[in-house]
Amino acid sequence: MSRDPSQSGDQAPTTAPDAVGNHVPQGSRKIDYHRAVFLKSAPTLADCPPDQGVEVAFAGRSNAGKSSALNALTRQGKLARTSKTPGRTRLMNFFALAPGQRLVDLPGYGYAKVPKAMKAEWDQHLAHYLRARSSLRGLVLLMDIRHPLQTFDQHMLAWAAEAALPVHVLLTKADKLNRGPAQATLLGVRREVARVGLTEVTAQTFSAQTGLGLPALEARLSDWLADSADPP
Ligand code: GDP
Repeated sequence: MSRDPSQSGDQAPTTAPDAVGNHVPQGSRKIDYHRAVFLKSAPTLADCPPDQGVEVAFAGRSNAGKSSALNALTRQGKLARTSKTPGRTRLMNFFALAPGQRLVDLPGYGYAKVPKAMKAEWDQHLAHYLRARSSLRGLVLLMDIRHPLQTFDQHMLAWAAEAALPVHVLLTKADKLNRGPAQATLLGVRREVARVGLTEVTAQTFSAQTGLGLPALEARLSDWLADSADPP
């Protein structure tokens, strides 16, 4: 295990839960998400940028709302558009926030019609990245709130557990449900993911369309990215 657990979970919390259990910032160092700039695409771990500093990865099935969430977070359409460029959708796409601070857009191939052998190869690269990437502090796993915990999500959770990687579940498109059913789904998902045996797991509702849950997402990311190698 190359990941040092003391780096990812044992720091003093910089957030506190709000009325609906989402975490909100408590004076943590501001991270300029809008400054995200494309670094490079990588098909395998060996092609990734140097394993230094800190990074947080985003994963979700196609159509889970990953591009919309990244756009909302970075306040720019450019970032997710880059990841959707033909040829890049099956790659890990790295974006720099600051020196030694990165966001990673992982491929989500829920619906991809490709041969089984090719899918197995992609799976291997993804699992390898999650297991061996020392600078990876956490995984944001996005699921459409109306279709949570599909096969892809279960795989990602299992790999994250194996890799002792903290996970933050983002239940996207929460504006599609009323508050009652949305909260019921959130509680159900929290109960389910608690069974997976992850070192650390949190979950929240989110809507890129209304901005619901954006401060909570920023707070979770800031916790993970706070121990950046290069102070501003
Ligand atoms: P990706 O394939 O995971 O990158 O998903 P996209 O971000 O491209 O979103 C897939 C579809 O869901 C698009 O039609 C989006 O407009 C829609 N969508 C994404 N986020 C939201 C949201 O917060 N609310 C609603 N109502 N629709 C959303």
